[in-house]
Amino acid sequence: MSDITQSLAEIVGESYVSDQPEEAYFYARDPGLMPTHEPDYVVIPKTVEEIQKIVRLANREKIPIVPMGAGMALTGLVIPLKGGIVVDMKRMTGIIEVNENARLVIVEGGTSQGLLKSHLEKNYPKLRHSIPDSPATATIAANVMIHGQGRLSQQYGFNSDMVAGLEVVLASGEVCKIGSNSISPDWFSKGAPMPDLSGLFLGWFGATGIITKVALKLYPRKKMRDVELFITDREDLIQDMVFELTHTEMVEDINIFTQPLPMIFKDNHHMAIFFTGDTDTELEFKRKMIWDSLDRFIRSKDGGFMGVSPAMKPTLLEMPQRSVSRFADVNKGGGFEYSGPIILVEKYPECARKIKELAEKYELGYSGMARIIGRGHCMMFGFAFTFNRADPDMMDRTRKALHEVSEFSLKAGGVFWKATADEQRMALDKMDPNTRALMGMIKKNIDPNGIMNPGNWEVK
Ligand SMILES: Cc1cc2nc3c(=O)[nH]c(=O)nc-3n(C[C@H](O)[C@H](O)[C@H](O)COP(=O)(O)OP(=O)(O)OC[C@H]3O[C@@H](n4cnc5c(N)ncnc54)[C@H](O)[C@@H]3O)c2cc1C
Repeated sequence: MSDITQSLAEIVGESYVSDQPEEAYFYARDPGLMPTHEPDYVVIPKTVEEIQKIVRLANREKIPIVPMGAGMALTGLVIPLKGGIVVDMKRMTGIIEVNENARLVIVEGGTSQGLLKSHLEKNYPKLRHSIPDSPATATIAANVMIHGQGRLSQQYGFNSDMVAGLEVVLASGEVCKIGSNSISPDWFSKGAPMPDLSGLFLGWFGATGIITKVALKLYPRKKMRDVELFITDREDLIQDMVFELTHTEMVEDINIFTQPLPMIFKDNHHMAIFFTGDTDTELEFKRKMIWDSLDRFIRSKDGGFMGVSPAMKPTLLEMPQRSVSRFADVNKGGGFEYSGPIILVEKYPECARKIKELAEKYELGYSGMARIIGRGHCMMFGFAFTFNRADPDMMDRTRKALHEVSEFSLKAGGVFWKATADEQRMALDKMDPNTRALMGMIKKNIDPNGIMNPGNWEVK
């Protein structure tokens, strides 16, 4: 054992540290397309105190540290670009407290979406959180770290907007409370009415600290949930349709798909409109409001509702929705990667045309998926391409297509979501210089030795 491995073993126990090639191989990659890079060490801590000791050791020895949830961001954010220690959070999975009346939960930094979902369903059937469509192993802390979006984002914004407090281990090893919990025993606000310091951490990809606890706002879970499918071939009208739908205040979530397969989907845009109710009357009232809001498009023959068969409904209603990844034949070595901007809904036609153009140019399978955020303030347009891992040429074509997506996104006024290291550099280059300087000041002061997830948000 090297000295560092020995020191890490003293902190977490020998079973939870490795510097062996098997683990290094595994932790050198994520399921996406980014180049691999091996860590020197992997640790799986159990407590906040252990994380503090690991960070202090790393700071003393100037070793990079990369916090990791499930590694499902797909854009290389947990690949240790400069080696060092990967801190795998999978043993910190506690659900510490649920305040049912205030609709709040506090979880540990490695608690997964699936764990919280099943805990709430079993113990608090009237509560839910904003579930993303990522695999159930994806963690809550990482999802808010990358400003993810979920099933409630149409109503309440990014999942990170639903954070009600953080506990973070800083690069110095100190534990810092962010939000009402810095003053009060109660975790109900990440900032207001105080200065909101959560912005020093959320969106930074672990480059400013390791989240060890997150408080999350919960929302009413209605007894019934249903979906309507509206189809149109008028991509230019999508923004008007979204405006009308969100005006009703009746909709839980809106996802818009555009993909070439099956054949009947080609050149059409499918809007999956989700809504909920506690009674049949509530559900039917909302359904009517939704139908009425799109009536003028039906009358002008620009779209129509499609019957959702009983066989299709469970697939559309499942959470997380696995059909997002089903189109990549994962069992046969297929993979997919999606990337894309957070962008105004009015840019939907440009995005839809771009994904088609790139799929044709690089001969790739594709699926475009837009999730409406905050009643139409913006959307996440996912440009997803499938590839076969056994076909290096196809993987290369996918990389090229995704690079073109990045260039397109910036030009179209978008902001990268879960940006790759290259996209981060492109964003920093385009950023207002004073904003960039401010980011540099924050990073330099909060992590003077540059040990936290280096290679990410590095301001030159
Ligand atoms: C099929 C599929 C569907 C998806 N659908 C969605 C979706 O609908 N909505 C959505 O938002 N995302 C989606 N995603 C993207 C992604 O899986 C999720 O955002 C997921 O929540 C990421 O969590 P993770 O634990 O895998 O993060 P990771 O990849 O492990 O980490 C992401 C970033 O957070 C940092 N990090 C991790 N843990 C901590 C911590 N405790 N403290 C500080 N930094 C930390 C990491 O260093 C990294 O920079 C999807 C992915 C797939 C594969």
